[in-house]
Amino acid sequence: MGSAKLHACTVSTIPTTIELMATPLISYTEAAEQVHRFILGMANEGDPLPPRAPEMLPLASAQGRVLAQEIRADRDQPPFSRSTRDGFACRAAEASTNQLLFLAGQIRAGEAPTKAIRLGELWEIMTGAPVPAGADAVFMVEHSERSGAGSSDSSGINSGDFVRLVAPRTIQPGENIVPQAAEARAGDLLLPPGVRISAPQIALAAQCGYTQLAVFPRPRVAILSTGDELVPISSTPGPSQIRNSNSAMLAALVAAAGADPVILPTAPDQEHATDAAVALALSDETNADLLLITGGISAGRFDLVEGSLTRAGARFFFGGVAIQPGKPVVFGQLPRPATSPQSRSGPGPLPFFALPGNPISSATTFHLFAAPLLAALSQDTSPQPRFALAQLPEAWKGNAGLTRFLPAHCDFSLNQPEMTPRVRLVPWQGSGDIAAFARSNCFAVIPDQVATLTEGTLIQILIT
Ligand code: AMP
Ligand code: MG
Repeated sequence: MGSAKLHACTVSTIPTTIELMATPLISYTEAAEQVHRFILGMANEGDPLPPRAPEMLPLASAQGRVLAQEIRADRDQPPFSRSTRDGFACRAAEASTNQLLFLAGQIRAGEAPTKAIRLGELWEIMTGAPVPAGADAVFMVEHSERSGAGSSDSSGINSGDFVRLVAPRTIQPGENIVPQAAEARAGDLLLPPGVRISAPQIALAAQCGYTQLAVFPRPRVAILSTGDELVPISSTPGPSQIRNSNSAMLAALVAAAGADPVILPTAPDQEHATDAAVALALSDETNADLLLITGGISAGRFDLVEGSLTRAGARFFFGGVAIQPGKPVVFGQLPRPATSPQSRSGPGPLPFFALPGNPISSATTFHLFAAPLLAALSQDTSPQPRFALAQLPEAWKGNAGLTRFLPAHCDFSLNQPEMTPRVRLVPWQGSGDIAAFARSNCFAVIPDQVATLTEGTLIQILIT
């Protein structure tokens, strides 16, 4: 994205001279709108990404990628009027009188009808076979009755047999037939670019004869964890150390969002080390489209990330959101070094999120704010984050003031007769409780004015 593009966006900026922690918290809705406006600012300027050529992938490898081309029907769909049942192709008006009709032929899937149906006739037909001219309906073999003792030919049909639709059943014209081109006409646009490719889109591409698809390149997301207490996951931590779980978790979230994670070396809580880490994130070597930093962004004495970002010339769009968990989340952009030659990502600013270090806070804020931007950078037009309704079987009591996204477990199995999934909050010790987090599969959303919820309330869940 070019710098002009990002400068043209209507995201309001907070002055970098004001300490982020001193800026008032904005609501979740305002923060989500800021991210959305940033995305629109990219799109208003045309191509939000540098001109990176789409890649051609074999159809079987396109799962999870974003379509960079149109998919058009190469022929009518169905290409012929198709029977949707095993049964008898007939004239509905005749068959509905329940009279015996002469069994004049048989059509299997893959065969072409050789003749039209004449008055008083019907043809045995298989699912997926073309309906012969003259027939306007197919009745199911289960609803038929045969009579007569014709001689069986090699195809197994008894020519000379008579068949009727069993009374009191009747049939309407068009029943059990999908007319030619009812699904698509040759040349119709069936999918535009920007659709995330999954099994239905692969089926469609296969139907239309696409053996390969053009897909957008995956954005690269640099992940920088900060903190003196962090050791690699392969190390045995000292008594006051912990393993760096955020880098692994964020890499998983980035990959699940269809982007490429680039894990940078962990930065200790020292100014020069944090500055160097931010510089590495901005470098051509890292070649990032988005930067995620965790830790070091709260009000603590050794929270040095804000200072490093400011020294690197950051523009801040927000510096704290009235949510729990995840309040100290920061969104902004960094200029790339002026001397940087044209990198793959172009010379434009690098958007970043500084996420709180607590693992559940990092994950929540990733889903709420980074995922929509990542979708836009991927050219994916589907809305992010995704919410659904579920029923909370237990009452809840808390304090109003923050929009809460509490780790929860939703039972998505079919729940009759309510037909609404049930969601239970996972008991937790706060936003560092990874064991509780690992028992969750969504976040329960509790709006900021709400202090109590009665049992059975329908609430929104954030789908992860
Ligand atoms: P901070 O935001 O740096 O104040 O960190 C908040 C909490 O999150 C502290 O308990 C940290 O130890 C923890 N934390 C920070 N970074 C990580 C990380 N990469 N992996 C796991 N926990 C972390
Ligand atoms: Mg820290």
